[in-house]
Amino acid sequence: MTEIPKTCKAAVLDEWAKPIVVREVAVPEIEPGAVLVKLLMTGICGSDLHQADGTLGLGVAKPPFIMGHESIAEIAALGEGRTTDAAGEPLKVGDRIMWAQISCYECYFCVIENDPVRCDHKTSYGFRHPEELAGGYAEYQYLRPVTKVIKVPEELTNEEAIGIACAGRSFLSGYEKLGGIRFQENVVIQGAGPVGLYATVVASESDAAKVIVVDSVKQRLELAKKWGADHVIDMNEYKDPAARKAKILELTNGRGPEVVIECAGVAAAFNEGIDMIQKGGRYLLLGVTGKDQTTFAPSAILQKNMTVYASMSANISHWYKGLQFVKNNRHKYPFADMITAKFSLNQANEAIEYMRKGKGIKPVVDFTGR
Ligand SMILES: [Zn+2]
Ligand SMILES: [Zn+2]
Repeated sequence: MTEIPKTCKAAVLDEWAKPIVVREVAVPEIEPGAVLVKLLMTGICGSDLHQADGTLGLGVAKPPFIMGHESIAEIAALGEGRTTDAAGEPLKVGDRIMWAQISCYECYFCVIENDPVRCDHKTSYGFRHPEELAGGYAEYQYLRPVTKVIKVPEELTNEEAIGIACAGRSFLSGYEKLGGIRFQENVVIQGAGPVGLYATVVASESDAAKVIVVDSVKQRLELAKKWGADHVIDMNEYKDPAARKAKILELTNGRGPEVVIECAGVAAAFNEGIDMIQKGGRYLLLGVTGKDQTTFAPSAILQKNMTVYASMSANISHWYKGLQFVKNNRHKYPFADMITAKFSLNQANEAIEYMRKGKGIKPVVDFTGR
């Protein structure tokens, strides 16, 4: 067993919109039920940009914090009494795991509503004070005793699995709310970043008739095709919403798609989605985490007799099912190709800048040195 160090390196954001600084922080003493993990890979999220700038629209923790809420790590130490993962698999030092956000599993929403995402005491890894060592931009991370963890299947590489740590499980949670995709429904996915790519691959494995993906980044659209998209619409070619709508109507018997999934993270996508959807359609919002606004006429929703769903985050079952999905389909789709850039912990600022430019797909901090 490797020795647990007294301190480790962590990339700390001290103030919004300031560069991240790498420094030594203390590794906490492990309490019963807790897990100390050694990070292997942490994804940089689109929402990390908003978090770093102070423009996140979803509840707010103030810096300083160690960012990073989508990671794979190996167990460095297990607190007394922590013997299995959320699926009942035995845990030992060295196992690779992922973990859900922090819910209490005791409040009204956790217990009566059976929805830990709505927990009254919910807090998130990646948004805590550096002394808690509770973010993925660090060599080690401390997981509180209440944290649900899940083992990463041995067959999967870190690169294949990492997308489930945020984009994949977030999509699956929304997919459940949407009630899935019904037989021969047409689906439009707005945005082919990580969330849009998982929407694409799950939709292509569903009963959908056509899966149509819209984005402006060629690399993303190319991967969307490999992940099962039947049609891709390049926004450089179809420059305005009217042109995109016309193309989509042409592909959907003139009626528009029954399902639109917003994975664009841009407020303006909302009106475009409402406008193209078929009467009685279902719209799922997943990507708009920023504070930017848009104006719309509620009557447009009413007139179409349509339903708007929104979903944020997920519970541990979505991590589990996401990992099973990737394991069962890993020979069919190049899951690892979503990772388009790797950075070291010392390059955390560069990793965020790469994400900000929006040209690749998913940058990660890779702790394995490969
Ligand atoms: Zn994320
Ligand atoms: Zn709760």
